Amino acid sequence: MAIIGIDLGTTNSMACIWKAGSPLIIKNALGTAITPSVVGVNDSNDIVVGEVAKERLISHPDKTASEFKRTLGTKKTYKVGSHNFSSEQLSSLVLKKIKEDAESFLGEEVTEAIISVPAYFDDCRRSSTKQAAEMSGLKVERLINEPSAAALAYMQKHGFEDGTYMVIDFGGGTLDVSMIDSFDSVMEILAVAGNNQLGGKDFNEAIYLRFLEENGLDDNKLTAEQKASIYKTAEACKIALSDTPVSIMSVNIDDKNYTLTLDNNSLIRIAHHVFEKISEPIKRVLRDSHMNVNDLKDIILVGGSCKMPTVAAYIEKLTGRKPCTDIDPDTAICVGAGIFAGMKNRDQDFKDVILTDICPFSLGTAVQDPRTMELIMDFIIQRNSMLPSSKTHDYYAASNNQTGLHITIYQGESIVPANNIKLGELNLTCPPTKFHDFIASMRLTYDINGILVVDVTTNDKKTHTKVILSDSNTMTDEEIAKCRAQLDKLRLAPPSEERYQLLIARAERVIEETLSFERRQIIDALMGYKACLAHGNDRDIRLMTKRFSHFLDQIEGKDSGLPDEDTEVSGE
Ligand code: ADP
Ligand code: MG
Repeated sequence: MAIIGIDLGTTNSMACIWKAGSPLIIKNALGTAITPSVVGVNDSNDIVVGEVAKERLISHPDKTASEFKRTLGTKKTYKVGSHNFSSEQLSSLVLKKIKEDAESFLGEEVTEAIISVPAYFDDCRRSSTKQAAEMSGLKVERLINEPSAAALAYMQKHGFEDGTYMVIDFGGGTLDVSMIDSFDSVMEILAVAGNNQLGGKDFNEAIYLRFLEENGLDDNKLTAEQKASIYKTAEACKIALSDTPVSIMSVNIDDKNYTLTLDNNSLIRIAHHVFEKISEPIKRVLRDSHMNVNDLKDIILVGGSCKMPTVAAYIEKLTGRKPCTDIDPDTAICVGAGIFAGMKNRDQDFKDVILTDICPFSLGTAVQDPRTMELIMDFIIQRNSMLPSSKTHDYYAASNNQTGLHITIYQGESIVPANNIKLGELNLTCPPTKFHDFIASMRLTYDINGILVVDVTTNDKKTHTKVILSDSNTMTDEEIAKCRAQLDKLRLAPPSEERYQLLIARAERVIEETLSFERRQIIDALMGYKACLAHGNDRDIRLMTKRFSHFLDQIEGKDSGLPDEDTEVSGE
């Protein structure tokens, strides 16, 4: 039984499997990789999915549905012939077709899938995607974010190098731009921006209108079939321009032949409004992630519309960087999902790669508030932290000669521990410790499979470990052991933490050496930095580390060469 990766796209879908050390794109019953995400009924009222349904999209609008991914998680229904389908049902029909085609291609049953979803999909749209898969007979263990999938496909080819990547996904009707950070084999999404009303179909529309204009045709006087024929030829003409300098489109209407000759320069002219809109999300994502385009490791182009040389050239001109062109924009996300399916299968090829997710709840312990003596929550891993996440917390003796420590771990958002879910507890002994002296340090490490590792090191240097599994965890002991071995790497995280400690030590030295008004400024910045280390997420910490380091460079008269917008440090 195979696990496949599926790119369930707004316009097109496809599947991939990890086989014998490389990704293998699955061909559908027509022998092609791409299955249009279109569902319809034919004249005998049978359901048709993919290319056949796409053929009838414009000519039989009442019998076909498309772009239903846009409305996943809503109550919208689509009338397809005599049927009324929800977005989930339509998506499940596409998934069912992909599953069946994959089974005949692979010659084995396919029961599980990794499905890619846009990074901005909320919980509701994610669970709708999972429901659609279940309806089609596929178990979805995990969804993968589309930009992460694209970055995985890129890194499988280029190696897992640390750095920040921009992923530009320009599909049929949406443009999604994301920033992905890869650090120590951990992949994290830093920012996303996009335009959900911009895509390949806008170029088709521009060519369609130019064709009518050139030939003096009136849109209102054309039949649905004639319009369908012009649209189809317009798209074919656009696609041809990706490989040839000139393309002639020719359509027969009422026994008369009409033509339009296009080259890439004329395409830029007639679709300039489409090109102009590409820049906005690119600028926004750079701003939101506080990144300079020169700091990017690479720009990864995915989605069918990025195959247009004019689009790639526009992006190159805008960013001043040559985007990566050696991964196939059509298949990148699907390949990434296939690679992830391989990782999920615990393929040896990926033993060191860790993908991140977001923790949907907070994890912490109950502590006594020294002012009111009430038990309150101390949130250690905050909700929406990137996973896997590892955070430490220090405990100090609450009374004189304290010889033990009782730690209870909770999951939830209430400040009152009793209102949250109790996950487990540890009872530890330690040598008698004076009031307010350090007694123990606890590290919570939580990963995407729902494994929570609690390590407590008491002041006599003894470490006590407890592993707590979430209810949904169905892993075998052996699998858990493997995951824990991976997490150990993260739990120790010495290089990065050492870097933070070194920066604090440096700031303390600079404070000692400085007497001017700057001293107050450095103290404020140091306090802000420490607060960020204690409460910020990994990304905030990395960003603040960079800024704080730059700030100290400036105080000490060194220049780190970073862009100016990164220099600001606040002591908040
Ligand atoms: P989605 O993510 O929306 O499902 P895709 O990434 O498959 O979509 O992109 C589909 C779009 O890409 C369509 O508008 C199609 O016309 C366009 N496209 C596909 N191949 C090419 C090509 N070679 N040149 C130009 N456009 C292309
Ligand atoms: Mg897509």
